[in-house]
Amino acid sequence: MATSARQVVDEFDLVVVGGGNGGYTAAIRATQLGLTAALIERDKVGGTCLHRGCIPTKAWLESSGFLERVRRASALGVRVDNISLDYPTVIARQKQVVETLHKGLRSTILKHKIEIIEGEAKLLSPAQVAVNGRTLTAKNVIIATGSRPKDIPGMEVDGERILNSDHLLQLERIPKSILVVGAGAVGAEFASFYTDVGSEVTLIEMMPTIVPLEDAALGQTLAKSLAARGVNVLTSARVLPDKTRSYDGMVELTVEHENKSKTLKAEVVLSAVGREAVIDNLGLDKTAVKVERGWVQVDDRYRTAGASVYAVGDAIGGLLLAHVASAEGFLAAEAIAGKQAEKLDYNRVPRVTYSHPQVASVGMTEQRAKAAGLNAKSQRYSFRNNAMALIEDEPDGFAKVVYDADSGDLLGAHIIGNHAGELISEAALARFIEASAWEIGSSIHPHPSLSEALGEAAQLSAGISIYW
Ligand SMILES: Cc1cc2nc3c(=O)[nH]c(=O)nc-3n(C[C@H](O)[C@H](O)[C@H](O)COP(=O)(O)OP(=O)(O)OC[C@H]3O[C@@H](n4cnc5c(N)ncnc54)[C@H](O)[C@@H]3O)c2cc1C
Repeated sequence: MATSARQVVDEFDLVVVGGGNGGYTAAIRATQLGLTAALIERDKVGGTCLHRGCIPTKAWLESSGFLERVRRASALGVRVDNISLDYPTVIARQKQVVETLHKGLRSTILKHKIEIIEGEAKLLSPAQVAVNGRTLTAKNVIIATGSRPKDIPGMEVDGERILNSDHLLQLERIPKSILVVGAGAVGAEFASFYTDVGSEVTLIEMMPTIVPLEDAALGQTLAKSLAARGVNVLTSARVLPDKTRSYDGMVELTVEHENKSKTLKAEVVLSAVGREAVIDNLGLDKTAVKVERGWVQVDDRYRTAGASVYAVGDAIGGLLLAHVASAEGFLAAEAIAGKQAEKLDYNRVPRVTYSHPQVASVGMTEQRAKAAGLNAKSQRYSFRNNAMALIEDEPDGFAKVVYDADSGDLLGAHIIGNHAGELISEAALARFIEASAWEIGSSIHPHPSLSEALGEAAQLSAGISIYW
């Protein structure tokens, strides 16, 4: 079904399959550059991020964070009695935020004269896409079909007791207890949410630290904070999937931890062990597109091995983040329009886990920089010594800079604490303009502000400190 008011045409400069961040950004940029574009989406434009990912989870975390803060309100001299969570309102507000953004996005896409086609797309050849009985002729195709939760082999997600993030976002109750398997961003965020709304939470991670892609110091600090709020955090723990049992409205998992076998029980399990590309039944066999380890292979301009077929976003793997998908979609459209835009440097991309406290980073972790043979050094500044963090009564956490001791170059920045997701943008800009750690430290930060912690850590890297 064509939903724009324009006359239906079947020939486009660009046909984009998938209307998530990667797909809609590509379509919009393409039309801005004078190309005609169609955007095919089988569900709703906005994709995972808007409907099953970033936005609903952040709306939930805003409610749980608020609740957690209100519980501590008396410390700030504010008395609040009879605090409780109104879960139906949490859900209703989340839906309202999503719907407002969805409406806005649809009208932005249509304003760019992009034809939104609602339906399942299948490639018939590199230049032909079938959808709803129509065959579109495309000078170029972008595959932006995203990803879906991956199952733990041997432990089937049943949507009843063993759930993935899609199921949890549909759950109409707060489970009394939950076992979260996988402590990446998704697992850590749900663990943070559920402990703050009163569930009994166990967070199980196979690696030695939680949020294992992040600097180890961040994972250790987040684990401490979650544990202090009641989460049972098990690291270096391996789930034995074949020993999983569901009975009497409960689910039982067996975990190997510290050389012992432990049996854990809860109302539900969240399986959050990663994601896989959505590329089945897409007709890739009708093209020369190559897939390796489940991800579509592209060059640094997002071109696949199939002539005129590009791919972006979660479908190509790497950093599965909405802003990465958007940046890739933008660059793929530029490449199709014949522009030589600068390549995306993934070391400049900020990553945020919106748990409480938030975890944010850009560039190399200290461990990775050292493993790469760099003369990497680091400096940290604790929020306990930061005026604004004390004013906000949020002293847990720190800012850490990793720098090259020979050149002074900023290699990475890592922040854990309140508003870390906002604070990281300064460090991302610094990485973008190739600033040294000293330059961040010499830039003036307002007082009192949380941003001073990053400034102080950066100053320490140059051996300067007023407060230390
Ligand atoms: C719980 C959760 C929380 C997250 N939180 C964050 C966050 O806070 N920040 C962040 O940056 N990232 C977050 N992410 C990741 C983010 O959602 C993804 O990286 C992002 O959505 C990827 O965008 P995409 O365009 O590649 O794919 P998607 O957003 O998945 O979009 C792909 C679209 O393609 C459509 N599609 C697939 N196949 C076809 C077909 N054959 N025909 C037509 N349409 C098709 C799908 O319906 C889908 O709408 C989160 C993810 C999850 C699961």
